[in-house]
Amino acid sequence: MKNLRINNRFTAELPADPEMTNEIRQVKNTLFSYVNPTKPSNPKLIHASEDVAGMVGISKEEIQSEDFLNVFSGKEVLPDTQPYAMCYAGHQFGNWAGQLGDGRAINLTEVENKNQFYTLQLKGAGKTPYSRTADGLAVLRSSIREYLCAEAMYHLGVPTTRSLSLILSGDQVLRDILYNGNPAYEKGAVVCRVAPSFIRFGSFEMLTARNELRNLKQFVEYTIKHYFPEIQGEPKEQYLQFFQKVADATRKMIVDWQRVGFVHGVMNTDNMSVHGITIDYGPYGWLEDYDPNWTPNTTDSQNRRYQFGNQPQVAQWNLYQLANALYPLLNEAEPLEKILEAFMNDFKSDYKNMFLSKLGLFTSTETDDQLIEDLETTLQLTETDMTIFFRNLSLIEKSDFAPEAIEKIKHAFYKNEEVNGEILESWTKWFSDYLERLKAKTLSDEERSVKMNLVNPKYVLRNYMAQLAIDAADKEDYSLIDELYTVLQKPYDDQPEYEKWFAKRPDWARTKVGCSMLSCSS
Ligand code: AMP
Ligand code: MG
Repeated sequence: MKNLRINNRFTAELPADPEMTNEIRQVKNTLFSYVNPTKPSNPKLIHASEDVAGMVGISKEEIQSEDFLNVFSGKEVLPDTQPYAMCYAGHQFGNWAGQLGDGRAINLTEVENKNQFYTLQLKGAGKTPYSRTADGLAVLRSSIREYLCAEAMYHLGVPTTRSLSLILSGDQVLRDILYNGNPAYEKGAVVCRVAPSFIRFGSFEMLTARNELRNLKQFVEYTIKHYFPEIQGEPKEQYLQFFQKVADATRKMIVDWQRVGFVHGVMNTDNMSVHGITIDYGPYGWLEDYDPNWTPNTTDSQNRRYQFGNQPQVAQWNLYQLANALYPLLNEAEPLEKILEAFMNDFKSDYKNMFLSKLGLFTSTETDDQLIEDLETTLQLTETDMTIFFRNLSLIEKSDFAPEAIEKIKHAFYKNEEVNGEILESWTKWFSDYLERLKAKTLSDEERSVKMNLVNPKYVLRNYMAQLAIDAADKEDYSLIDELYTVLQKPYDDQPEYEKWFAKRPDWARTKVGCSMLSCSS
């Protein structure tokens, strides 16, 4: 890989763990530990993204090389690099969890290409000092989910880590999928993912919790210098601006999640990137029937902390924890609190604009809040597929009457027979209001439809789609991974040849593990 330009800033500038043994422990006063990936026994490349490879400086031809397979499976270390696991802490499900760290992630190196910096990170390449009680490995199932979803999100325009490669390790991994005492062996896999950095809210929380304030200051300044170079001024002013920028990026990411119906599933503070990109694809899910209370994560089924409708509030709560972590550098709570308060107001306004764009309304009127609220309620009266509903909404014409409009979106209903009586009345009422609004002052039908189709995807990685790809891959058939990867590169295009993926969740997937229920165990 002759064009990979190694440029390690994180390890060159920040304090390393002096201890080189790969033993599980508390790692104090440092930000990372050097650790080599565990060698896989028989790696095999399943998929690689040419797009991401090109982005970091790897050619198409190089993807097929022995070198690529060896480096991105963890079998060999790139010359002039020293892999490392990052030390961070975090709040999990609202509780302080202390040191977490990269328990199954190993950063290979940072590279520079076209004036951009990228960290290349393996997930599932074996134990690190942060593996706690687990094995540091990842199974094929969860690796396919991470690999495909990150790329799907990217092409949807949602800020995210990218996926470079998906490689079978050739080793078996023991997992108890639902934590119910039924462990089974599964195929192991390693994903290489790519991001500007993998710095998390929890990276800063750890330093403050341990009162390592010199490291905290150094780390915040490091992050600003390399990732927010536009921030200038007095140190305290800079720290505040940094917090503001993280809050802004996080808010934009959540607006996008709500727009496409993505439920992260484990919004712990260790899974929140300071770049406002989606990281750590675990028990995530896609909203199928529009239900703000839905969470894909079985670990969270009691409290539903991370349900779809709660993601904005949780983001704010997580930012609160980041504010607490930055507080010792400022010794002033008020300016941080101001930013936190503004977060929710700004979110509401961005959310409204986003929702209006989904409706094809690109300017706002007084009655729009009511129109949005009514739609959110109506969508919940009977199971209604979010993606199909919004996509087909672009078919509606100003000259339609409510029954014609309902006809155009009715493919989104899971139980057509329920759309009767009061439910039908509610839909008729909503569409009458909507049609009136469309007639009042909006774009032409054609223009509106084109614009709506740029914000309302036709194809998302429905939970059952990922599961079908997983089931086939388990039998060594990787064609579905290829197909989904391809269709999800153009989620807003009609792609009639892939129409079969513009479909509601089939009945078998309703309660199947992996399709509607997932756990953190991956
Ligand atoms: P997650 O909720 O998946 O982000 O994981 C929370 C913490 O557990 C992180 O520190 C992970 O690195 C660690 N972890 C999760 N799965 C494993 C595993 N299989 N082996 C080691 N550590 C893990
Ligand atoms: Mg994580």
